[in-house]
Amino acid sequence: MATATRVKHTKFIFVTGGVVSSLGKGLCAASMGALREARGLNIGLQKLDPYLNVDPGTMNPTQHGEVFVTDDGAETDLDLGHYERFVSHRMTRHSNYTSGQIYESVIRKERRGEYLGQTVQVIPHVTNEIRASILAASEGLDLLIVEIGGTVGDIKSLPFLEAIRQLRLQLDARDTVFVHLTLLPFIKTAGEIKTKPTQHSVMKMREIGIQPDILVCRTEEPISRATRDKLAMFTNVRADSVMSLPDQDTIYKVPLVLHGEGLDDKICELLNIWSREPKLDEWKRIVHTLENPRQRVSIGVVGKYVDLAESYKSLHEALIHGGIANNAAVEIVYVDAEQVQAGGADVQLGRLGGVLVPGGFGERGSEGKIAAIRFARERKIPFFGICLGMQMAVCEYARSFADLPGAHSSEFDPNLDGAVIALMAEQQSVTEKGGTMRLGAYDCELAPGSLVARIYGKSRISERHRHRFEFNNRYRERLERAGLRLSGVSPDGSLVEMIELAPETHPFFVGCQFHPEFKSRPTAPHPLFTAYIAASLQYQRTRT
Ligand code: GLN
Repeated sequence: MATATRVKHTKFIFVTGGVVSSLGKGLCAASMGALREARGLNIGLQKLDPYLNVDPGTMNPTQHGEVFVTDDGAETDLDLGHYERFVSHRMTRHSNYTSGQIYESVIRKERRGEYLGQTVQVIPHVTNEIRASILAASEGLDLLIVEIGGTVGDIKSLPFLEAIRQLRLQLDARDTVFVHLTLLPFIKTAGEIKTKPTQHSVMKMREIGIQPDILVCRTEEPISRATRDKLAMFTNVRADSVMSLPDQDTIYKVPLVLHGEGLDDKICELLNIWSREPKLDEWKRIVHTLENPRQRVSIGVVGKYVDLAESYKSLHEALIHGGIANNAAVEIVYVDAEQVQAGGADVQLGRLGGVLVPGGFGERGSEGKIAAIRFARERKIPFFGICLGMQMAVCEYARSFADLPGAHSSEFDPNLDGAVIALMAEQQSVTEKGGTMRLGAYDCELAPGSLVARIYGKSRISERHRHRFEFNNRYRERLERAGLRLSGVSPDGSLVEMIELAPETHPFFVGCQFHPEFKSRPTAPHPLFTAYIAASLQYQRTRT
């Protein structure tokens, strides 16, 4: 873990949450980042998570949503995905710390004797460690926005709150702002918005020594002057610092709504930052396109975690971005792979404009994914396979065209004959959880004249990976001879990174071993998603 040095004079916004979880603290922090960036500031974001897991990569996506991967290969909280979609600053492994990582670092130091026989305690040792990781992440920035995960009142959040309380004392008072996000429930029977839970949440904050400077109130409807005044009175926050953030139909409106509430002006005032008015044209254009689409397309995402859209968060957003680039609304239909497997390909997929098989782990649903891919290939429905989706496409092709009826991934059967997807030799002896994963950014060389080279408009790309298994080179020639195009390989040629079918055979059939969704932004939609949505729109037009 890094040590505390401050090269440049950085200012800080600390974002905490009260009353309930899932209020969209990450989105709020990301939107504040977008607003600061629109004013020309060099900003960064950091998320501090109170749970004890040292490796968020091993957490179940149905409980915690997607694992977001950074360029430097950190497996992080999905809020970092929001951050990267809203600001241009790229996240690193220093952008997300869990309590587990903080404690691990403290315990390692204790084992090495670094505390010289002192009693090692939450205050000051754990809180020092937290402060050090915040300061390290702030290096070189004008402003760092730090989101504290969890809800005020949780035992597990206390060391983080204590650490930011200490930071306000340590730093210049005009260098820190505390923003507290809360819920104002609307009680139908009383016909009233209730402020009491927020009053209590701020009381809890003040008990631990933090007076919020700004309240952002999540509500169904905008709040009245009287409610603002009441909240101000009871929470000791100025009335012009009580902001309302009603539910929005698209998340990309949040920066504009917060700007309308005067949040970024207020932050400038409190942090004594002089800056130009924010340039928000791009966000306005995005919202306008989302609200006035010229066409629509439905895309079927065939996967295992269909009950929880959060587990495909970046993918979901990347599809929306592909829609923005095509002036189209994208309806995303989550299709349960097991139902396709049970024989419902036509029913489940027949009416869709495109079929996408996303990343995933484990065997459940894999036959359904293969059935879906076969259906898309035979019907010439645009197909996009990501990570496990590409691996299943290779299996499907091998079964159908390379005389390998049992082709599969050795992830599901290690002794398989016909393992077209397998572990590389050097990975086979590693046993630690997550130990064999290929993680983070890798370069890929695109085949001249391929569909993907045309889509990217260049021959060398860099994309993020998170997987263990690879295209098995033993079957490379055989599959190529059978007509599968290996359109992207690692620079040394040893790993297959992308596959496609010839345009004469299929209008859009692309698989990639990496996760392009992690790099898509509403302001810069990823080229593969833009091209895939364009192909799906085209397919839909010719079909009807
Ligand atoms: N389970 C596959 C592997 O480990 C694919 C992983 C993924 O889709 N992210 O290689």
